[in-house]
Amino acid sequence: MKRTKRILLSLLSAAMVLTVLCACDGHKEADSTDSEEKTTTTTTATTSKPKEEEPELHTHTPKEDVWTVDGMNHWKVCACGEVLDKAVHTVRNSVCTGCESEIMDWEDGTMSLYYRNEQGDLALTMTYDAKGNLIYKQIGEFIYNEAGLTVSELYTEYAGGSFPTASYRFEYTYNDDGTVHQEKYSVNGMPTYEYEYAYPKAGESYVCQEITYLMNGSKRITQLDAGEVILSQIWYDVNGVKIDNFPKYDQAACKNLFGTWKVDMDMKRIFSLMLTGTEIELPADRLPACVVDVTITFRKDGTYLSTAKIDRDQLFAMTVELSVEMVYLAAEQEGMTREEADAQFRAMSGMSIRELAEAEAAEGVDEMVQAINEDSEGVYYVENGMLYMAENWNEPVEGGRYISDGDTFTLIMPVAELDTELEFEFTKTTK
Ligand SMILES: [Zn+2]
Ligand SMILES: [Zn+2]
Repeated sequence: MKRTKRILLSLLSAAMVLTVLCACDGHKEADSTDSEEKTTTTTTATTSKPKEEEPELHTHTPKEDVWTVDGMNHWKVCACGEVLDKAVHTVRNSVCTGCESEIMDWEDGTMSLYYRNEQGDLALTMTYDAKGNLIYKQIGEFIYNEAGLTVSELYTEYAGGSFPTASYRFEYTYNDDGTVHQEKYSVNGMPTYEYEYAYPKAGESYVCQEITYLMNGSKRITQLDAGEVILSQIWYDVNGVKIDNFPKYDQAACKNLFGTWKVDMDMKRIFSLMLTGTEIELPADRLPACVVDVTITFRKDGTYLSTAKIDRDQLFAMTVELSVEMVYLAAEQEGMTREEADAQFRAMSGMSIRELAEAEAAEGVDEMVQAINEDSEGVYYVENGMLYMAENWNEPVEGGRYISDGDTFTLIMPVAELDTELEFEFTKTTK
């Protein structure tokens, strides 16, 4: 509700500012008298004359605290039409002591009056230019249910100058506990936004569906989860025909992927490939065996689950070997032999290159195993021969070419910033 209200209020105030700006000719300093000093105390209610001595004994009973106001006066009106208690506003600290309108004198000489109803909702806004001409008027009409909750808010603007008249309507429906279930918002009778709230439990709510009506008559429906993550977003044209969707998940297009797949990722090949073209090239056969068993399940609802298993000892050996080889390669580039490099290193640190690499690897290996072995879930779709995956649709999507062949599929992923690709062959483990 807050969000939509903010949109409305910013629209209203923007319209008002525009109107005031248009109407304000020239640059006029405020006569900066505190509104308190302007206060004219009044007095006599100018009741109109009783009609031709009607015998009927009628006691005028206007509604208590319900005032009719303009820029100058406030008064009450009896059901019979009789005007009662008419008086000039008596303003103290920008509030009329009679009708409780808020009356603001602006620096450009314009004056605005805000009158609120018994529920505190803004029933009337009027702005006058420096000459006292009404240049903007906004009427707020409210409908409340038995519980006193606002079911409908309608703001109609009657702006001066060329600003068109507009009406903004809110409609609310409530849950049994009084919390808002749905909000609908429209401008000049045309729907603009709809919000539906989910209440997983008392005191907790979130927008689970947002409908945006676009100017061209089409609309967009967005489903959200409690964390404001977009679950889906679908566009419909003016005839209600789906024109685009996000994510671009299409169950039929993904049917070759449904099920659980397995791939053994050969880390020595991957590391070697990733170092290709850098200053330190490392042939795969110089690295120890290290394989990550990856299992991925593509579900029919457009989500996937991925699990990975890496052996701690293999990862440790790989990390050590990478460090050692990289130091040796750097030394060789300096014209040293491995033996010379070791001797120099030992003289400096009291350890061999390998010993230091092992000490460092031991510190970080468990954390790495844990990170690699952690399950990950996300969303996916295929389009034009590409498989795209992301943690959720608010996150960046990664994609690769994908070639399907019944019980295997090959995924060819570009390696970021390197002019190379990694190829993974997945084998189906379930039918
Ligand atoms: Zn009366
Ligand atoms: Zn007043």
